[in-house]
Amino acid sequence: MKVAILGGGQLARMLSMAAHRLGMEPFVIDPKPDAPAAAVAHHVLASLDDPAGWKAVAHCDVATAELDHVPPRALDWLGLHMPVHPCPSAFGLVGDRLREKRLLAELGIETAPFRPVDSLEDLLHGIDELGLPAVLKTRFEGYDGKGQHLLRSVEDARRAWQEVDGTPAILEGWIPFDREVSMLGVRSMGGELRFWAPVENRHESGILRVSRPLEMDPDDPIQEQGRRALASVADALRCVGVLTVEFFEVDGRLLVNELACRVHNSGHWTEEGAETSQFENHLLAITGLPLGSTRSTGPTAMVNLIGDLPGRASLLSVPGARVHLYGKTPAPGRKLGHVTLRASEPAALERALDVAVPMAGASR
Ligand code: AMP
Repeated sequence: MKVAILGGGQLARMLSMAAHRLGMEPFVIDPKPDAPAAAVAHHVLASLDDPAGWKAVAHCDVATAELDHVPPRALDWLGLHMPVHPCPSAFGLVGDRLREKRLLAELGIETAPFRPVDSLEDLLHGIDELGLPAVLKTRFEGYDGKGQHLLRSVEDARRAWQEVDGTPAILEGWIPFDREVSMLGVRSMGGELRFWAPVENRHESGILRVSRPLEMDPDDPIQEQGRRALASVADALRCVGVLTVEFFEVDGRLLVNELACRVHNSGHWTEEGAETSQFENHLLAITGLPLGSTRSTGPTAMVNLIGDLPGRASLLSVPGARVHLYGKTPAPGRKLGHVTLRASEPAALERALDVAVPMAGASR
């Protein structure tokens, strides 16, 4: 079974490693010679809109992506030669913050209040309606807080609009959330849906720093609300593979912040903390194989390594640590790796976090 993966970053690297374990052969398309997945997959050195790259994977059995933004032409072409998952319609929709929010509204799923912004007039009008503070976000290519501007005043808005410079954007009302939570699920070709435990996420400067799976509780109405939201998006898009929904939890309810029709940073803990990882289950789903159990195996947490790397030896000395490095050159704000912590009981996990979180340069 040959699997084409669009994009060769760390998600493709981890998908490729899982593919090898399952006896599948991964092919990644990425224009960078030092793409993280290149070390563990056949590397097609091409940009995603280069037909030569598509042709080089035409013999694959199935295609998937580690990115939200894939040129539609690439998906159309690949779709003539093999199944493409999650599915071309999901690719165009997820990753466009405006279309994503409109879909959620159609499905009756609550989000932050929002307004489309294509001009300074739209922006000022939106501020009148939604109030301040508010967040201006570019519609496309916005992840990890990129393309985002927190607006506290009309002057902030004018300055931000100059930077956004005509790029299609949306204005979002500021949500004073109690915490951020994500839900990951995997949908099979037959429509079976399995959920991992919900995850509590802590971001710094818009980038995920720490993820902690919560105890799965079938009777918790908030968790149930999250699972229902994910299920209705997955069914509406007919996604096959992993789907991630990021939420703000505020006053005992969940508002959707973002969708990703792919494996996700807040699911990295599943490699050590669940019976089947997000990477394995994504591959099982897109190749039509039976899904694996998503049950948690014990107290687990994940800490991202961002910007620069602490010494490998010190990371490895943290009890229960598994270190994952992506082979990337350090740069400010760049995700270079992560550490998963496992413990036999919750207090031991807290002690490991007390050591690992400051070591990773994050605040506890
Ligand atoms: P995003 O790239 O949209 O996931 O945003 C990155 C992070 O910025 C989120 O995880 C939140 O911590 C914060 N953020 C984004 N939008 C809002 C909002 N409307 N209200 C409050 N915080 C936000």
